[in-house]
Amino acid sequence: MIAGKKSTILKSETPNLTCPKCDKKNTITLNIIGDYGHLLLIPFISKGKRGESNCSNCKQVLSHKDMKSDLKLAYYELKEHVKTPIWFYGGLIAIKVMVIYKIIFINP
Ligand SMILES: [Zn+2]
Repeated sequence: MIAGKKSTILKSETPNLTCPKCDKKNTITLNIIGDYGHLLLIPFISKGKRGESNCSNCKQVLSHKDMKSDLKLAYYELKEHVKTPIWFYGGLIAIKVMVIYKIIFINP
């Protein structure tokens, strides 16, 4: 595939929460996942952030849309502190640099 979508984990945290399914404490890992669009595997544009929780005990995986209030709150708090990495726009920045280079050095 020439172009497509990829994702990467931007941040992980283990909040002091009880799993809604198996009732175990501190088994939930909260992941902030960043999606980006790529062209020839070069990241071009950010497609936003999403969350996922993962219980190490019962293996339940929840998307942030299905999270209960306390987990959802922890997700939003964690998400606040995660910035979209600049390399998500790597291809776009490279093109801009090339255009500026052309304007300065090639055009009279
Ligand atoms: Zn569980």
